[in-house]
Amino acid sequence: MDFYGLTQEELRTWATGIGLPAFRANQLFTGLYRPDVMGFADIKGLPRDLIGRLANEFRLFPAEEHTRQESRDGTVKSLLRLQDGKLIECVSIPTSDRHTVCVSSQVGCAVGCTFCASGQNGVERDLTAGEIVYQILHHHRRRPVTNVVFMGSGEPLFNYANVLQAVRVLAEPEGLGMGRRRFTISTSGVPNRIRSLAQDEPQVTLALSIHAADDETRNRIVPLNRRWPLDDLMSAMDDYSTLVNRRMTLEYVLLADANMSPEHADRLALLARRYGAHINLIPFNPVTETPHIRPTTTQVDAFVARVTEAGGHCTVRGQRGADIDAACGQLKKKQIQATVDHHHE
Ligand code: SF4
Repeated sequence: MDFYGLTQEELRTWATGIGLPAFRANQLFTGLYRPDVMGFADIKGLPRDLIGRLANEFRLFPAEEHTRQESRDGTVKSLLRLQDGKLIECVSIPTSDRHTVCVSSQVGCAVGCTFCASGQNGVERDLTAGEIVYQILHHHRRRPVTNVVFMGSGEPLFNYANVLQAVRVLAEPEGLGMGRRRFTISTSGVPNRIRSLAQDEPQVTLALSIHAADDETRNRIVPLNRRWPLDDLMSAMDDYSTLVNRRMTLEYVLLADANMSPEHADRLALLARRYGAHINLIPFNPVTETPHIRPTTTQVDAFVARVTEAGGHCTVRGQRGADIDAACGQLKKKQIQATVDHHHE
């Protein structure tokens, strides 16, 4: 069992099931979230035989840092090796008043966006809740994490149960105690899961990776759109916004060759107005595996002007960690493979 995949209540149930008093479970739970505690033996006052039993029963750390790159702007990208040898990326993005961690929800991704290196080889497996929580803990030791965004590899709504379990664990008041509003789940559009999220976790922020507001363009760059076209997606979004009174975000990667015409801007603004959504524009960062072209500053400015003129509210996202390839969709399989090969030599 992954220790960090359990809520406090689940740990209590386990403890009472083997005849331990509930206070022991509480002592363990609060203890293991302290930054200076690295194992059961570090918790004061635990009987020695119990420490042995816990060590047999639970896995504490499901991953280890394989490589680490630090950007000049303070962004840290960690490549974590899971126990089955798979690699995932998580990125720490500190600012003066926040520490955001961008986490992965799956190994690889089934969505296959044409501008993203993570999705080029499909999905390998879902991450467990413990593996998701660990990505935050990994960076939490450096500085307390204030915000979590599910924008690493994977489609979080395809790993719905484990993603939500990770949110519940991280929100535990006697653990890290992170408020629900500090989580952003970014999806490329899974209609029924969007509806479920409105019921299950209405306080979590939803970001929709829209990237094009017409089916023809979106079919091309976000292949999931062929399965659930914009009509289906918008019907789910309509239901979502009826139930959830929170501002959502539309993510839009700017590809000079694909989605930056004046018509694209008009359609995007129209969609954003329908939901009162804020638009995050992300100028594409070229990766060798994708056919797309990075826009010039003039092209970005023209697109912003057109969206604004059409009544959309947008900001251009700063490229944090661009010098270490930590920007969205930059997980490079080749680079990882090279690192792994090197490691095995
Ligand atoms: S951008 Fe996100 S959804 Fe699209 S392939 Fe990459 S990881 Fe998957």
